[in-house]
Formats: sequence, C-alpha cells, structure tokens
Amino acid sequence: MSFATLKLSAPILTALADLGYEKPTAIQNKAIPHVLAGRDIIAAAQTGTGKTASFVLPLLEQLHSRYKKTDHKLRGKRIRALILVPTRELAVQVEASISQYAKHLEISSMAMYGGVDAQAQKQRLIWGIDILVATPGRLLDMAHQRALYFDELDMLVLDEADRMLDMGFIDDINKIIERLPEQRQNLLFSATISDDVRGLAKRTIHKPVEISI
Ligand code: AMP
Repeated sequence: MSFATLKLSAPILTALADLGYEKPTAIQNKAIPHVLAGRDIIAAAQTGTGKTASFVLPLLEQLHSRYKKTDHKLRGKRIRALILVPTRELAVQVEASISQYAKHLEISSMAMYGGVDAQAQKQRLIWGIDILVATPGRLLDMAHQRALYFDELDMLVLDEADRMLDMGFIDDINKIIERLPEQRQNLLFSATISDDVRGLAKRTIHKPVEISI
C-alpha cells in the first residue's frame, strides 16, 4: 500500500514525500481507512510504530476536505479537534508532527500543557485553533476560565490512554468528555488495552473498530 492508495490529498502526500516517508506503516494501513470512513477506533500500538501519523494524517485529511471552503470560518476560542496526551513532552512532539504533515495545508495547531504561564496560551486561543494537543489538567483550567469552548469540536483523540490513566488523569478526562458535543469521532490509542482502558473506551467511544498490530 502507498499513501496515495489511502486516499490522502496532494498537499499531505507532498509533505510525506518531503519527509522521505515511502510507505505507510502497519498501524497506518490499518487505522487510516477507518478514520477516514468516520468510524471510532481503539488501537493497540506502541510508540515507534508510526501511531502518531496514523491519527494525525486522517485528521488533517478530514479537516482539509470539510473546512477548505472559506465560508466555514473557525470562530474565536473554538477548536475542531482535540488530542489529549499524558505529558508536556508528548504534546510538543505530537504538535511538531502535525506541523510537519500540515506544512502545505492551512490548518492551525497548538500544544497546551501545564507548568508554564497560561497567558501566552490563552492569547493564541483567541482566534481559534484547528487542532489542539493538550494535557488534561491545563485543558480543564482553560475551559473553566472560558479561554476555550468545545461547541465546534468534532474529533477527539486519546493518545497513550494507558499512561494517562496510570498518571491519574481519569477524573480530568471524564470532566473534559462531559463538556464535548456528543456528535463526534473518537480515536483511542494505547500501548496496552487494560480493563481500565476498556472502561474509559466504553464511556467515550461509539461502536469502535478494534485494531492491533
Ligand atoms: P511514532 O510511533 O508515532 O512515535 O513514530 C515513530 C517515528 O516514525 C517518527 O519519527 C515518525 O516520524 C516516523 N514515521 C512515522 N510514519 C512513518 C512512515 N510511514 N515512514 C517512515 N517513517 C515514519
């Protein structure tokens, strides 16, 4: 399989070629068609398998095809896709991947995490952001402070779900999910699918396709 057979658009294919990616990895081959079809997924995938691109690429593709019309302007303090991650490091890393893959698209992204001053992050949210990569605690703070609204969101990714649960983020994650529109696509990635991860998935995810590699 090639990235072109996965039905990704030209600007994304060009970005992948720029990076020297020749073909999709196993998780990318398995996940991307389901995500593009609008299905929810639960995927067991470790770091190093190409899992980040397996959710970022179809997410970009959907945003690109849905919102390329200029009449669909993003409103201030709104986001379209949310990627929840356990750590600041992962937030920065995932956002860096998004920027690379979105190089030829007009899609904005931002990493948001705790432990740093919130003011600059608030400022960036004022015009809205297409894809927000965030750690749960800081995201909830921002929502409480009305720096961010979820009413335009239609995609949620839980990345490294097992680590988020191990780090005690379950209450924050539940509180975030309560605030999200019910009509949305949900993707969950986890190195291991433990009972706790299944519990989280049951409350969050709708008739998922299960993927493992
Ligand atoms: P991840 O599992 O998401 O942490 O990705 C591991 C590494 O693989 C990252 O450095 C990616 O840039 C790289 N990568 C992801 N997909 C591909 C691909 N299809 N071809 C070559 N490298 C890739």
